[in-house]
Amino acid sequence: MQEDLSINKHLWHAKEINDCLEALQSSQDGLSNDEANHRRTIFGENKLSEVKAQSNLKRFLLQFNNILIYVLLASALVTFVLAHYLDTAVILAVVLANAIIGFIQEGKAEKAMASLRQMLAPKAHVLRDQQRHYISSKELVPGDVIFLEAGDKVPADCRLLSCFGLTIQEAALTGESVPVEKHVKTVTENAPLGDRLSLVYSGTSVTSGQASAVVVAIGQFTELGKINRLLTEVAPLTTPLVQQMGIFAKWLTAVILGIASTLLVYGLFIQDYAFEYIFMAVVSLSVAAIPEGLPAILTITLAIGVQIMARRNAIVRRLPAIETIGAVTVICTDKTGTLTRNEMLVASVLTDQHIFKISGEGYAPSGALSLNEEQINPEESALLQQIGRASYLCNDAAIKESNGAWDVLGDPMEGALLAFSGKVGLIVEKDSQRWRRTDAIPFDAQHRYMATLNHDHDGNAFIFIKGAPEKIMSMSSQQLSSSGEAKALDENYWKTKASEIASQGQRVLAFGIVKVDYHETLISRDELVGKVQLLGMVGMIDPPREEAILAVAECRSAGIQVKMITGDHAGTALAIAKQVGLQHTEQALTGAEIDNMTDEMLKETISKVDVFARTSPEHKLRLVTALQANKELVAMTGDGVNDSPALKRADIGIAMGKKGSEAAKEAAEIVLADDNFASIVAAVKEGRTVYDNIRKVIFWLLPTNTGEAMIVIVALLLGLALPITPVQILWINLITAITLGFALAFEPSDSDIMKRAPRPNQAGLISGQLVLHVLTVSVLIVMAVFSIYGVAISQNLGEPLARTLALNTLVVLEIFHLLYIRNASRPGFKVSMLKG
Ligand code: ADP
Ligand code: MG
Repeated sequence: MQEDLSINKHLWHAKEINDCLEALQSSQDGLSNDEANHRRTIFGENKLSEVKAQSNLKRFLLQFNNILIYVLLASALVTFVLAHYLDTAVILAVVLANAIIGFIQEGKAEKAMASLRQMLAPKAHVLRDQQRHYISSKELVPGDVIFLEAGDKVPADCRLLSCFGLTIQEAALTGESVPVEKHVKTVTENAPLGDRLSLVYSGTSVTSGQASAVVVAIGQFTELGKINRLLTEVAPLTTPLVQQMGIFAKWLTAVILGIASTLLVYGLFIQDYAFEYIFMAVVSLSVAAIPEGLPAILTITLAIGVQIMARRNAIVRRLPAIETIGAVTVICTDKTGTLTRNEMLVASVLTDQHIFKISGEGYAPSGALSLNEEQINPEESALLQQIGRASYLCNDAAIKESNGAWDVLGDPMEGALLAFSGKVGLIVEKDSQRWRRTDAIPFDAQHRYMATLNHDHDGNAFIFIKGAPEKIMSMSSQQLSSSGEAKALDENYWKTKASEIASQGQRVLAFGIVKVDYHETLISRDELVGKVQLLGMVGMIDPPREEAILAVAECRSAGIQVKMITGDHAGTALAIAKQVGLQHTEQALTGAEIDNMTDEMLKETISKVDVFARTSPEHKLRLVTALQANKELVAMTGDGVNDSPALKRADIGIAMGKKGSEAAKEAAEIVLADDNFASIVAAVKEGRTVYDNIRKVIFWLLPTNTGEAMIVIVALLLGLALPITPVQILWINLITAITLGFALAFEPSDSDIMKRAPRPNQAGLISGQLVLHVLTVSVLIVMAVFSIYGVAISQNLGEPLARTLALNTLVVLEIFHLLYIRNASRPGFKVSMLKG
């Protein structure tokens, strides 16, 4: 049966819809859950075969593939030949310990990344048991009926059943970069892949429109599976900073080897040391100075950061983001669902004469309407009924009850409208039997309205339309009155009343209707203009998230500006902005105003405005650009397909995990699993912590290594006895560098981390400050070690005891240095600083 899945054999594109459904033993209603489960046992999961992971042995051996390690191994060999077995053993122990730690940590890091990929696994809307479900794409089977909309990734190869303005970007498959317009009609049998317009292919993306389709091939049997190109890239666990440190470490090694060989020559020929003595000294110098633990510690610091962020619902898609996000100076955020809860409730209805108030809770379709505190019966008002009808017909969501609680499938705003239809007395299931949808214009953030064409059985056809009030009014010439007659549109009335509702923080949505000829089966945007009759408007409340209010306050203390960019009305946006505590809430800048500004003017204005209303996605791009021109480091959220350019342009693009499209997720650096503004701020905090810890590791490790190396250099150059033996230095490196260094990687955030201003992003880590720090600390270490050793010798304590004293001095100094680094940003001394 598996072979039956091959598209070519079946030529699905040339078959009528019903023949396809029959061949797949499915129907327009899709499969039952049982049947789908049964098919999954036959066909397996809808996924491409994964890239084979490296075997553990190979991964372990790869740990030794490193110049630093080669140097160490060579030294081990020579010490062995010289019969310094103890030294050989210690060097080998250093090498082995490094490899084991590297192996384990790398494994953990890889696991962390794999689980992130898991969290980002694509999902699909599918019809099972005649109900819409949102499931992992892996669970799809041939015969499943799925729904697609703009921004989705096509989860399997499918035959289209119905589509409204569907265009698909198929570059992943055909290389064609212009989106292809699809349709449901059959195509000639020998049409090439790119011309099979009745099919959509796994791995391609929906650029606009809506569709339903039946799955014809999954996993390896899809066209994508055949060319076996895995689209999920495996991100290497590194960032620019870590790469920079890697290069730095290599250079350092070269310099150290240079110094070591010079010293070898100098010691042999000028100071006349015995070869064995000078060689051992030089080996310990190299081992001491080479920061062999550094790459591993930095990698684990990153991996820990990634994990902590994921736990706080921020999933890092591109690792460099983890480093940049801590330096963010402006966060541009959506309003709906990010600052607010996206739990909508229709609270008021506006008709040509009245504002009704509506009670009820959640998405339950029951509640009462009142006018001036008096309850009314909405069933008596044909106008309210008609608004209710428009609410559910021009709607793609569903609400359903389980255990007494009502849930929305789809857009919460549309869910609220469904509940509202129930409240005006419509029994949606019954009323909807009379209507059939023949065409639709899906909502998009650019046009800000949605329309559906519906036919009833009595020979009537209407276009129902809902959207932003200005938009609907611009298409209307008439309004319907409560008595049912059409009058000229009183724009002033609606504007005043709509602003009144908006200023309470309610989102206002207008409804309109167009009567069309019964034979009409298509809507075009142009034919709507001037023909719409305005029915009325509704106001919806969507309270701000508590945690967003706290997070905004935290941003303020952390020197980060927060800007709200929304498609909503300026009044609504400003009201919410005040509630969450944004800084400049006197005035909003609207999309239309932005259009009238030059880039220069926008750059000037932008720092004084925090609320941007009635914006389209392309405004986001201009806003990011203007902010960046002011030298800001910008994080920007987005959810729609058209947000991709702005997300890419921003220094940190943040996509919504729940309501975001696949397209936005792909363009983003970070995906928010819970769409919550507070999670962005948590990620910024963790980003700052990671950067802090990387800095701490570097500031601790480099002076330690340099100090140890300088002890050897000074002794050799001045012809002094070595205060610490080579094997002791190796031992210190093995124990301290690895154990103490890792402690820094696990450091929690400093308590004041969100009270400081963002760090300047350009500031490199390898700076004058670092050099100064390295010099000071290493000179102190050298002086202390030589002094203790000198004093001990002069007290006739003997060489072994003097060396032991020197060694312990060094260890204690390193510990103190570590404590200093941990607390460098905090003044004064507290006992708590010593705690883990
Ligand atoms: P936001 O920035 O708040 O997410 P959107 O871009 O989603 O704003 O919406 C902008 C405006 O478009 C809304 O204020 C509303 O008037 C209108 N709108 C939003 N969703 C829909 C929809 N599903 N159907 C019709 N109009 C909508
Ligand atoms: Mg939105």
